[in-house]
Order: sequence, then C-alpha cells, then structure tokens
Amino acid sequence: MTATLEPIAASDATETFDSLDPATGDLVGTHPVMGADEVDAAVARARDAVDWWGNLSFDERADFLLTWRSVITRRIAQLADLSHRETGKPHGDAQLEIVLAIDHIAWAAKNAKKVLGARKVSSGLLMANQSATVAYHPLGVVGVIGPWNYPVFTPMGSIAYALAAGNAVVFKPSEYTPGVGQWLADSFREVVHGRDVLQVVTGLGDTGNALCRARIDKLAFTGSGRTGKKVMAACAENLTPVVIEAGGKDSLIVDEDADLAKAAEAALWGGMANAGQTCIGTERVYVHENVFDAFMTEILGQAEGLRAGTDSGAKIGPITMPSQLGVIRSHIDDAIAKGARVALGGPDAVGERFVQPTILTHVPEDSTEITEETFGPTLAINPVASMDEAVRLTNATEYGLAGAVFSKANGLSIARRIRSGMTSVNSVIAFAAVPGLPFGGVGQSGFGRIHGPDGLREFTYAKAITRQKFAPVMNLTSFARDAATDGKVAQLITLLHGGKQTLR
Ligand code: NAD
Repeated sequence: MTATLEPIAASDATETFDSLDPATGDLVGTHPVMGADEVDAAVARARDAVDWWGNLSFDERADFLLTWRSVITRRIAQLADLSHRETGKPHGDAQLEIVLAIDHIAWAAKNAKKVLGARKVSSGLLMANQSATVAYHPLGVVGVIGPWNYPVFTPMGSIAYALAAGNAVVFKPSEYTPGVGQWLADSFREVVHGRDVLQVVTGLGDTGNALCRARIDKLAFTGSGRTGKKVMAACAENLTPVVIEAGGKDSLIVDEDADLAKAAEAALWGGMANAGQTCIGTERVYVHENVFDAFMTEILGQAEGLRAGTDSGAKIGPITMPSQLGVIRSHIDDAIAKGARVALGGPDAVGERFVQPTILTHVPEDSTEITEETFGPTLAINPVASMDEAVRLTNATEYGLAGAVFSKANGLSIARRIRSGMTSVNSVIAFAAVPGLPFGGVGQSGFGRIHGPDGLREFTYAKAITRQKFAPVMNLTSFARDAATDGKVAQLITLLHGGKQTLR
C-alpha cells in the first residue's frame, strides 16, 4: 500500500472515495465525496477571495502566478510522482506534462495585462466627439471540471488563464486523480498566504454536477462529450456559460512526399504515448497509397520492443480507467469482424490492466475504430488514393479537435482544409506547447478556447466605455432633434456608405 504525499484536507464529509494506482491497484489516497453544501460553501469562499484577487493589478497577480510557477518547478519531481501513481503514466511523461503546464502559467501571467487591459478603440466619424475604450473584466468565480488523462496540463489550461484574468477558481478534479488536484490547490494556497483563490472540491460526477449548479460565473469542462452534455444542461438552469473541451478522433495524414521515418515516429508516439489516452492523440492514419507499404515497414520496425508494463523498459503505462478496457477491446473486435487486418497486437493485446500496442490496417470507415474515440494504444492505418481523399475521410467525423499532416510541399494547404481546432505540420501536438495559440475543437469536440489570448478572454467579459470629449455637432440622442438634423444625418450616411458598391 502506498501512502499519500500530501495530507488530505479536513472535511465534514463522512463519505470518502479512494484513488488507486491503476498499474497495481494499490491505494494512493482517500478523499472526501463533497456534496452540494460543501461545493456551495467553497464557491461562497471563492466569492470573498475574488474581492481581493480580482482587484489586484495585473502586475500583482502576475507576481503571485510566477511565484506559483517557480514553486511547481522546484517540486516537479514530487508532483510527477503523484501523477505517475494516480494515472499510471511513466514518470518522464508525467514530468513532460507538468513542464508544459508551467510554461502556460508563465505565459498567462505575463500576457494578461497586454491582452485584457483597457485599450482605446476608434470611435468612428458619427461619434467623433466620443473617446472609446474596451477592457476585459474577470467574471468572478470560475468552476473547472477536469479529466484524469492529463491531470495537470489539461485543467491548467483553464485554471491558469482564469486566475490570470482575475477570477477565483473552484476545481473539481477527476475522481481518478484527486490527489493531483489537491496538490495544485495546496501549493497555490501557500503562494497566496491561505486565501481561497484556488480551491479543490473532490468527489464523483455528483460533485461535478453540484459545481455546475452552484452560483458560479462560468464553467470550464474538459472530459467526454457525453458528460459535457450533462454539464451544459445543468449550467443552463442558471444561464451559466460553459467551455466544453471534449474528445476527438484525430487523424495523421501522410503525403507521398513525406519523410516517412519522421511520419512513422510521430504516428507511433501520437497513437501510443500515454497508452493512447490523449484527447489530441493520433487515432487514425491516412497514408498515400504510393508510400503505404514503405510507411508500414517503417512504423512496424519502429514499434519493435515498444510495450506496456511497469518495468523501466516499458514506455507505455496501464489503462487508467478500467472500464475503458472493454471499449478498446470492442473497437478492435469490431474492426476485425468488418475486415480490418492486424499488423501488430490485436484482440489478445487487451489485458487486465495494460493494452499492448495494436496497429490495424484497411480498417472499414464504418467501424467504431474509425468513428468513435478509442482512447487506447491503437492505430487504424488506411491507404488513400490522394490527399483529397485523406482530407475528406479526416473530416468525415463528428469530432473536430486536432490532427497532423506530414508533407514536404503541401503541408500547410492540407492543414488548412482540415475541420479541426488545431493541426501540426510535420510534427504531432506541437500546438499544445505554444502558449500563445488557442486550444479547442469544433463539432462534438466542443467549443470555446483555452490557451493564448482567446483563452484569457474566455474567462472575462468585455466592458465597453465611451466618454464624451465635447458636445456633438448634431445631438442625435435627444427629443430636441428636428427634421433638419434628420436630413443632415441622411446626407452624412449617404456620403459615408451610400456610393461605393451598387447592386450587380
Ligand atoms: P468524463 O467525462 O468521464 O469525466 C470528466 C469529469 O467530469 C470528471 O471530473 C467527472 O467526475 C466529471 N463528471 C462526471 N459526471 C458529471 C456530471 N454529471 N456533471 C458534472 N461533472 C461530471 O471524462 P474522463 O474520462 O475523465 O476524460 C476523458 C475524456 O476527456 C476523453 O473523451 C478525452 O478526449 C477528453 N479530454 C479532452 C481534452 C480536451 O482538451 N479537448 C483534454 C483531455 C481529455
């Protein structure tokens, strides 16, 4: 049995739940199941804290956030170990995820003032007597509901940006990774000297539901589309706006001029890293038929020795959520029943806790391995006659999260045609590590954006102010306005907008 790294927060809740190491079943920690009363109390405390936090200057908030960034950096081994034990992912992968999250905290802290601070806007000829400004104000209390697969990086995309914008945050981590969530809140609490600017509420789906129904000002959800719909429905009751970051079925496209060794390396890592439990992971690969055989030789060569397990040579961890094992098995079985060929792994690859790398080819487009999120270390690799076909099949999904293209000559033009929020050319998931870029999907992958300037604005409302500099030549907003003024207004608008374009 493994002890917790951090003491569990005191709570009145009698009911508790355990987080377990998915590789061994060992206990990692025990946490309270918080009910609606406790969630409401946390939101009320956050409301008090935001009076302080929201009224700090951008520079003052940046200072706290950059201190937090340094604290996490110095304790990175401790947090990575906790994440490793709760998710099962290799220690190095856990560290890499935290590295990216740290970079996002720093970016949000350093850029909030420039992106959200007051700026002048041209007032236009009609309102030339007005000075116009826009600024982005914090919403107040933001609820964040997170998944388990990247328990630091994923929620941080909302938490760091919401905090930098001046909001307080109440975070409900996944029931599989509550310890990581608690660690983040505890470390931030140290930085802000015990204030309730970032709090954690632990529990299962009902706790998340209570957060949706609490008096929060926005809810940022990351998880499955199925739960996302429940979140939206619950938030609708109070007209609480939502950000939904849901799943994906991303493809990696390989053109005939691509560097096949690099494309194979990217597809293998994109599909198998984190045991395939990555929202922006590679699930489908479309390869130009002229290089299909060469690509397969390359990827199968590179996959030699790649395996899931717990020893130091195993680069793939366990499946974190036991119920996903059945989904992965059913997708492999369905593909094979419909005619897919097994190039690596197969039905026997799905074990009690681990799934060995599985590569299927010629997978029918109507099989679940192509149409639904598998979330396991599997790849469906299909030949295509042209890049037009690759784009058409890529876009023939209800998801639209991310993807990748490998091509020397046409990477950018192919990337632009993919209906998804993010695409990497000649690499995988590079966009996630560029803090200035927005992150989010379309269709069943959700809506709203985290990261970058869009991610900062997502947790604000735009505040427009005009200030009259001098009395207008014509007073339009008065009952004293006469027919002569109306005539002048008609002349002016004709002069400004009437002449240029005519009906054709
Ligand atoms: P999930 O939907 O099962 O759970 C997500 C969170 O929602 C958990 O904290 C859970 O406790 C909570 N929850 C469950 N029922 C709820 C309810 N009724 N009301 C409110 N909250 C509720 O998802 P998961 O299995 O934790 O995560 C995996 C999914 O997340 C995959 O589909 C993956 O693609 C997606 N994901 C998306 C992104 C992205 O940025 N788009 C990132 C990571 C993961």
